[in-house]
Amino acid sequence: MLLFSCSSVLKSSPCLHPPSSFLILPEIKTCKTIRDLQQLHAQKIKTGRIRDPFIAAEILKFCALSDHHRNLRYARMVFYQMEEPNCFSWNTIIRAFSESDEPFEALVIYHRMLCDESAKPNHYTFPPVLKACARVTGIEEGKQIHGQIIKRGLDCDGFVRSNLVRMYVFCGVMDDAHRLFNRSVESDDAWSDDVREGNVVLWNVVIDGYIRLGATEDARRLFDKMPQRSLVSWNGMIAGYAQNGFFKEALEIFHEMQMANVQPNYVTLVSILPAISRLGALDMGKWVHAFAEKNKIEVDDVLGSALIDMYSKCGSIDKALQVFRGLPQRNSVTWSTIIGGLAMHGQAKDALDHFLQMELAGVMPSDVAFIGVLSACSHAGLVDEARSYWNKMTRVYGLRPRIEHYGCMVDLFGRAGLLQEAEELVLNMPMKPDDVIWKALLGACRIHGNVEMGECVAKRLMELAPHDGGCYVLLSNMYASLGRWEAVAEVRLMMKEMDIRKDPGCSWIEIDGMIHEFLVEDDSHPRAKEIRSMLEEMADRSRSVGYAPDTTQVLLNIDEEERESVLYYHSEKIAIAFGLISTSPATTLRVAKNLRMCGDCHSSMKLISKLYNRRIIVRDRNRFHHFENGLCSCMDYW
Ligand code: ZN
Ligand code: ZN
Repeated sequence: MLLFSCSSVLKSSPCLHPPSSFLILPEIKTCKTIRDLQQLHAQKIKTGRIRDPFIAAEILKFCALSDHHRNLRYARMVFYQMEEPNCFSWNTIIRAFSESDEPFEALVIYHRMLCDESAKPNHYTFPPVLKACARVTGIEEGKQIHGQIIKRGLDCDGFVRSNLVRMYVFCGVMDDAHRLFNRSVESDDAWSDDVREGNVVLWNVVIDGYIRLGATEDARRLFDKMPQRSLVSWNGMIAGYAQNGFFKEALEIFHEMQMANVQPNYVTLVSILPAISRLGALDMGKWVHAFAEKNKIEVDDVLGSALIDMYSKCGSIDKALQVFRGLPQRNSVTWSTIIGGLAMHGQAKDALDHFLQMELAGVMPSDVAFIGVLSACSHAGLVDEARSYWNKMTRVYGLRPRIEHYGCMVDLFGRAGLLQEAEELVLNMPMKPDDVIWKALLGACRIHGNVEMGECVAKRLMELAPHDGGCYVLLSNMYASLGRWEAVAEVRLMMKEMDIRKDPGCSWIEIDGMIHEFLVEDDSHPRAKEIRSMLEEMADRSRSVGYAPDTTQVLLNIDEEERESVLYYHSEKIAIAFGLISTSPATTLRVAKNLRMCGDCHSSMKLISKLYNRRIIVRDRNRFHHFENGLCSCMDYW
């Protein structure tokens, strides 16, 4: 069959794949550049052999599809000069555009093919056309094409059908995708191993579609049904959970993957580390690091940055620095990560030092690096330094401040008592201030007892986010700190009437590689009884050294978390109690919490660190607190 070379025979069956180029146009093998090809093309025009549709098709294929010599402008010209392009040439030019920066052009050419009628689309035509639809998310075009596929009886073709599924997935129409997919899977038995392997890829595509829409449960259901899974399937599910905020689930499936004897690879580690960071699961993070080293998985700037982020968010800034120093290469993300980490740990001077080193290393700071620098200044009250970094960012590096940068400055001015300046900045921001900015300002009004401004800000905040509990909490605390209990009671009533619920507080502690999660007044843990008696012991010992929470304050001063009585334990205290009964003496306890720590927990943590002779590291929503021997690293400036 490969020996067909008479073009008249071939012309009568234009949809056949032509024999290899070696036989039709051996000279093409010697073409090294597009210029060589142009010469060959010119020669074929002169001799008239260009009229042989297979010779023209070979020239088109070279400039349309070859990896190194792709030149679509030239390809388009070659194509439009063909008197009667055969099906192969139509498919070539459609495929070339479907993979290019102009996927829509593929659809335009396909339409022309339909009108032209000299060649009929075949099962090689549709996959690239569908790919083009997926890339331009043209669901309407895609549905029309689906109709044309059915009309031609090609919807039973496995290759076409899997591309249809992909098209629906990429356009986010999961119902149709899933229906078609089920039909593919049901007919699986009749297929060869190759097809079945291709099918695993299709499973992965559909699962990925659900994940992209945030439908992790649907993704998981499908994942559990998979007859066989590839490493990509596991990685997709891990990344899906992590990206959609299901950190515990991400870790669980990571464990399952190892139970199933599937070796994690580079992608797995990069995907799992953010979930580990968010949960503060230091032991797990260390395991991942050791695994990478043992299995010679290259710790490059990307994996390195993820490790640095993990160590700093898990409370081990020293290890973060160690990884940072050991990296052969550091990109702007790596630098921003270590600067942000140092800032979070309140090591402002080191954060600023690293920023300087980054500049000296000739790495262009990103706006994220400046968020780190400004928040370092904010945690340490460095007003003048922050001002000069702000100027540097805008004037020297020409970066436009984002709302996060304004947030840092408002927070900084506010804490430092420069309320006027903070307010001015908020009022003159080029973008609309969001609730985070207003809350920072309201928080500052609370610290510095500026009721007038505070009430004004609270009003704005309530308009902006009427059902956000945070604003009421701050307002009520401002009144409480001034002893205006009537106003406090009014705010609480308002909250009740509007049925405003607060985010439930939640803390995590990792013991022997297991994550334990605690909610407020949580007694669902198997060791709840022991935890409860430990909490009582902690309270007794604290009282015995003179610690007495001001009960009036405690009852009326509400926090981000509800607290109805003095016996009501916040989640971080429960986690610490569990940590104390589950670890040997002198073990550092690390807790991560989803909300900001309250003042009462902060002071009792200081005391517990001294009474039990433990280092306690708490990461709350804003920053780290390192408690040791009765003191906190934040120096109570938080
Ligand atoms: Zn608390
Ligand atoms: Zn602190």
